Amino acid sequence: MTVTQDGTGVEGLRELAERAGRELEDADALDILRWAADTFGSRFCVTSSMEDAVVAHLASRVLPGVDVVFLDTGYHFPETIGTRDAVEAVMDVNVITLTPRQTVAEQDAEYGPKLHDRDPDLCCALRKVKPLEEGLEGYRAWATGLRRDESPTRAGTPVVGWDEKRRKVKIAPIARWSQQDVEAYVAEHGVLTNPLLMDGYASVGCAPCTRRVLEGEDARSGRWSGRSKTECGLHG
Ligand code: SF4
Repeated sequence: MTVTQDGTGVEGLRELAERAGRELEDADALDILRWAADTFGSRFCVTSSMEDAVVAHLASRVLPGVDVVFLDTGYHFPETIGTRDAVEAVMDVNVITLTPRQTVAEQDAEYGPKLHDRDPDLCCALRKVKPLEEGLEGYRAWATGLRRDESPTRAGTPVVGWDEKRRKVKIAPIARWSQQDVEAYVAEHGVLTNPLLMDGYASVGCAPCTRRVLEGEDARSGRWSGRSKTECGLHG
């Protein structure tokens, strides 16, 4: 079934997502992505934080030239931008870089410096949530690299679900994968990864809000460390 621009409405999309979530729960990541490519075609994209290119790589196998959306918050580590550039150069994907309406300097002028320290929710809203909302407007479905084992807040992630906030189908093809599954896929296919993963970081976000993790900590404990905040609002 192909969803056309003037075809399935929001209610139909929601039902489609919920049904696919049940039917594809035990499916391979590639089969989940094949379903997404067949169903949504060019109105499907992958979002990537450039921590690694696993989902982009998987998606490019079923939809060569697939759109890979990257949010350049202006606060990324140079290694993250380098990973984005490498993905763009060597993979069969179409990297689309989204940027916030304001540069960091413009945001500092309006809200004061280091908004990330004083009000990280507002900073994320301005630099991540809003640009992604606008960037996803033309799509009906988006895929992410969310995994259930990353943190308690992600334990219930469906492989296909309904993103009520954006009214789109949200796909997590590797939701059931473990860290070992990711590492095995990276090794088998020579997938690009962010060099910071070899330097003590388990989850890579904006530089001011990311630290290395300690042994025994979950992968996302290095994000907004010392705060109750665990998600940026993209997945909540
Ligand atoms: S992760 Fe930190 S620096 Fe990045 S947008 Fe959120 S609060 Fe701002």
